[in-house]
Amino acid sequence: MGKRYYCEVCDKHFADNVTNRRNHLKGLAHQRNRKAHYDACRDAATILAEEAKKNPCRKFASGQCIFGASCRFSHMTYAYRIALEKQAEADWFAKRRKMEEAAKNESPKFESWLEKFESKSSGSDEKESDSDSLHIPEFSLPEFLHGIPDLPPSLIPPTKEDILTAPFSEWG
Ligand SMILES: [Zn+2]
Ligand SMILES: [Zn+2]
Repeated sequence: MGKRYYCEVCDKHFADNVTNRRNHLKGLAHQRNRKAHYDACRDAATILAEEAKKNPCRKFASGQCIFGASCRFSHMTYAYRIALEKQAEADWFAKRRKMEEAAKNESPKFESWLEKFESKSSGSDEKESDSDSLHIPEFSLPEFLHGIPDLPPSLIPPTKEDILTAPFSEWG
């Protein structure tokens, strides 16, 4: 038993010799299979664009083209074109979804930023109403007033207690 040649594209085994190989690789069945194989690896949009550049094969339309997949005219049928257009559209949506997904993962979500912002501002409201955080400066008598007896009350610096117990309600 001699060597066997296996064509992946056609899924066929045959006796391996130069003549058989050449005949097979030149054969229409192989070329058609190879084109189908190649087309399956390209995306639908690419195939559509390439086929659109070719003129339709008149002989193929009447079933008489002998060139098969190697024909320089387009053999695309209406049904195949519709199928490709659907596939190209699906590919486009899938691609866009992927891009959106990637963009979501890269930049922080607006919702999460808003949540943080809201919790921050409500937190600061609580703090402001908290008397512990009320900052009272400490006043001290300037040095040039030291040692002067009986200073008028308006010149004596107020203490923390004075400020906290000041009768604000009487103002105005
Ligand atoms: Zn083959
Ligand atoms: Zn043709």
